[in-house]
Amino acid sequence: MKEVSSVDGISSPEKNKVEGGTLYLVGTPIGNMADISGRAVKVLKEVDFVAAEDTRNTGRLLQAIGSDRPMISYFEHNKKSKGEVIAGRLQAGESCALVTDAGMPGISDPGEDMVRLCAERGVPVTSVPGPCAAIDALVLSALPAGRFSFEGFLPTVKSERAKRLDEVKYDRRTLIFYEAPHRLRETLSALREALGNRRISLCRELTKLNEEIFRSDLDRAVERYAESDPRGEYVLVVDGASEERPAEDRWWAGLTVPEHVEGYVSRGASKNEAIRMTALDLGLSKNHVYKLVLASDGK
Ligand code: SAM
Repeated sequence: MKEVSSVDGISSPEKNKVEGGTLYLVGTPIGNMADISGRAVKVLKEVDFVAAEDTRNTGRLLQAIGSDRPMISYFEHNKKSKGEVIAGRLQAGESCALVTDAGMPGISDPGEDMVRLCAERGVPVTSVPGPCAAIDALVLSALPAGRFSFEGFLPTVKSERAKRLDEVKYDRRTLIFYEAPHRLRETLSALREALGNRRISLCRELTKLNEEIFRSDLDRAVERYAESDPRGEYVLVVDGASEERPAEDRWWAGLTVPEHVEGYVSRGASKNEAIRMTALDLGLSKNHVYKLVLASDGK
């Protein structure tokens, strides 16, 4: 029989019992401690151990909620080795809560790799849903929320960023991007250049004291941050395209495969990147593109 739990007097026959051998993805606040859920507190107090992206951050959270559970670090640069350790402990019957710096594990952070590893090993995974900056920004943006595309962080390599933006240029859905303050100006300019002037809602410091939603267009957003320094955390919500992609709009239309590769190289890509992106554009294998380039080099 399912356990009946009570959180602040609300009883519900939900699956609130912490089970051994299970990974719990626990959503944590994106800036406002009061957003921690009753169920998140319960799981963070009862699991055998907590896997944390930043043990200092999570240490403060655990202290605030009165959890004494031991922590293990799990982040981008140790996720391979630590993932194995965590999966091994789960397979041996321990329960683990995975928390990242903020929000839902797996959204633009290493959580998704841990879920994949557990799925491969047959380890049960469940979630304790919590805040997610992308969804919070979308609903506050005043832009259409019915259909959207979450794009996360744009690539930092210029040619890859240009390719990504070209891919979404004619997407009719609302687009959601994450960005760090020190890259905001460059990203706004890249968005303006690639997508034209469109409505944008810049959602800053969500759930925090200085929360701000700037609903405007890309021209004004670029202007605004030419004058003031970006501060805090941002989600950019951008209106979808108003028209379909014209057939002749592909920059490589009419080029041979080697010229297509050269086009990427002249935009700053390495030869390997250019071959990979050309193969993706044309739906060919990298090997085939490589051979065509070699053949044309030998002419
Ligand atoms: N897993 C998180 C989630 O569920 O939203 C996202 C992690 S990602 C590494 C961090 C990015 O999320 C930030 O660079 C920013 O773009 C966005 N973000 C997180 N908290 C935010 C907040 N309070 N206000 C605005 N954006 C935020």
